[in-house]
Amino acid sequence: MNKYESLKQAASAYRADEPMKNHTSFQVGGPADIFLEPENEEEFARLVGICLDENIPFYVLGNGSNLLVRDGGYRGAVICTKKLHGIDIDGNTLTVHAGDSLKDTAAAAQAAGLTGLEFASGIPGSAGGGIRMNAGAYDGEMKDVVESVRVLDENGQIVEIPAEDLNFSYRHSLLQERPIWMLSARVALAPGDPESIQAKMDDLNGRRADKQPLEYPSAGSTFRRPQGYFAGKLVQDSGFQGVRVGGAQVSEKHAGFVINAGDATATDILTLIGNIQAQVKKQFGVDMRTEVIVIGEDPAQKS
Ligand SMILES: Cc1cc2nc3c(=O)[nH]c(=O)nc-3n(C[C@H](O)[C@H](O)[C@H](O)COP(=O)(O)OP(=O)(O)OC[C@H]3O[C@@H](n4cnc5c(N)ncnc54)[C@H](O)[C@@H]3O)c2cc1C
Repeated sequence: MNKYESLKQAASAYRADEPMKNHTSFQVGGPADIFLEPENEEEFARLVGICLDENIPFYVLGNGSNLLVRDGGYRGAVICTKKLHGIDIDGNTLTVHAGDSLKDTAAAAQAAGLTGLEFASGIPGSAGGGIRMNAGAYDGEMKDVVESVRVLDENGQIVEIPAEDLNFSYRHSLLQERPIWMLSARVALAPGDPESIQAKMDDLNGRRADKQPLEYPSAGSTFRRPQGYFAGKLVQDSGFQGVRVGGAQVSEKHAGFVINAGDATATDILTLIGNIQAQVKKQFGVDMRTEVIVIGEDPAQKS
């Protein structure tokens, strides 16, 4: 029996050998063996359950904006949360689902006259990816607004975890420590003036567009901020600004971004990242860890 037979039978739809470059903001990446886009939470839980029961490697994908998939693709199932959406507002609290975009969530808060999520309006991720990464920008992080998260846990149970148990810190959360998947979250905001909220979002997004190479595919900041340094400054000072490997390039506009300047492969991007890491270590003794998550395999390893 085909390894993925149970998934195929349980899924409302599936795609085999789906190019991951179509699902990542870097626009690179080889095929996933099977690509699933569950219609609702029940289907999501069913598919995750089958993967766990049958030891099928799987990866939960939000908007793919912090992800680099290697050129050989992913041997397993990619389960995308895009269709798990719906934003509900009750007083000052929003309930968001895994696949809601942070942009739509911030817009819904603004329309309801709720302040606190302006920082997230320009982050191109989903609520699930944003919470797992504790995404943040300017004066805010997800940890400032998340009250609790409903997750599917490693035993197939749905449990609610309060913010104080989510171990949030810089680009980190409990969802990186345990194989648990966010289904929905409660986001606590404060009443505010819709016009001022909109003005703040416009200001932050204008600053983003001025400083970041949004005209090129990327996965945002390539590196985590090393303690006591700025990643972009280290890249600049090590002479890498504008440097290219194949189609990958360190942005001329912001040295903290490796961009796909045209037809980059994951190998180009990873080679450039590796060169930067080696030079920064040599010159400044600093370890540059990637913020971007790398999955999949190189083409040569494909069986
Ligand atoms: C132009 C650009 C600008 C950016 N600016 C910022 C910024 O200002 N601040 C910032 O923090 N980030 C920024 N990013 C990075 C990225 O948008 C964030 O990390 C975002 O939160 C990732 O969300 P996603 O849905 O795209 O996650 P994905 O890339 O799909 O996944 C990221 C991780 O989250 C996991 N995940 C996804 N959904 C779930 C779920 N439901 N439950 C559990 N785990 C899940 C995935 O398995 C993966 O490990 C930027 C990216 C780009 C391309």
